[in-house]
Amino acid sequence: MQIAPYVPGRSTTDDGRKVAKLSSNENPLGTSPKAREAFAAAATSLERYPDASANELREALAAKHGLDPARIIYGNGSDEVLHLVAGAFAGPGDEAIYVNYGFAVYPIAIRRVGATPVIAPDQDYATDVDAILAAVTERTRIVFVANPNNPTGTYAPRAEIERLHAGLRPDILLVLDHAYSEYIDGGDDDGGMALAASAPNVLVTRTFSKMYGLAAERIGWGYGAPAIIEAMHRIRLPFSITIAGTAAAVAALGDTDFVAHTAAHNAKWRAWFSDEIAKLGNAGLRAIPSQANFVLVVFEGDLTAEAAYKGLMDAGYIVRWLPGQGLPQALRITIGTEDETKGVIAALRQMTGAA
Ligand code: PMP
Repeated sequence: MQIAPYVPGRSTTDDGRKVAKLSSNENPLGTSPKAREAFAAAATSLERYPDASANELREALAAKHGLDPARIIYGNGSDEVLHLVAGAFAGPGDEAIYVNYGFAVYPIAIRRVGATPVIAPDQDYATDVDAILAAVTERTRIVFVANPNNPTGTYAPRAEIERLHAGLRPDILLVLDHAYSEYIDGGDDDGGMALAASAPNVLVTRTFSKMYGLAAERIGWGYGAPAIIEAMHRIRLPFSITIAGTAAAVAALGDTDFVAHTAAHNAKWRAWFSDEIAKLGNAGLRAIPSQANFVLVVFEGDLTAEAAYKGLMDAGYIVRWLPGQGLPQALRITIGTEDETKGVIAALRQMTGAA
């Protein structure tokens, strides 16, 4: 079976106009100034290889989250960590499950190692633990759950994840993708981390690309039992994270003000945006409840998602229309700056005739 390529969020229109990019769930407030400084200061010895064991990064993460540094793996974005886990634990004849409307990298990582992706049905766009458990077969090796999920933004509470874990055979690896876990109400999601710290078959993956505003630097990481981490290390590229990127990540971890500011901004405008979409319910618009830094808007009236996508592009906003992921009826819209968020709502109001 051919692998369909990953299609990244666009930053220009068909005619090359640069518009506000709300298509890749990046941090609209930029990057921590401390991370910028550390990045510039570290970009000096360009002739030297980075530390292949990423000691500084692992120690900083361990101190911040109360973890064992030996159980941390790192990679070129959490994308690489996801590829590593597929490579280490699945192969031809194996199956790996993810939820309908799951993150687009999962099927690529699964197919790349010759395994078969299995999609568990969603429940009104949300993760359905019973559907995942029903999809398990003798061949299942990995279950991927993004929590919050991309592109739906939905969040499965801690008890549901624990129920999922309890229902899986111990030889199945549960990968909890926490790319957006810093955005959930009340802050970080410790449930998955606690599971990864105690269970032999759970890996949590995380990223510096979202809350920490370092998407360009490609730093992701994972936490799990020693046997999982060891198996991934065996197939890892030796130097996939850079010296300057690592320095920026370590400094970003220490900039709690920037993180708190980003979290507060996102919570405020995500709530406002979702409320404004609800006001357009008569026109068939619906915001799927989100715990991430984006909202999936479903179009069930006269205004189609495709028309809204084009209209928003004309108004100066690129959002994500996902027909290739089975979502021709929806747009995934990143929570941007205040002006951008208000601008998107104003454009949608105009298109629905509500303005
Ligand atoms: N997991 C999820 C659910 C994501 O949405 C993303 C970013 N699109 C990633 C992982 C990968 O992020 P990165 O490689 O930048 O760490």
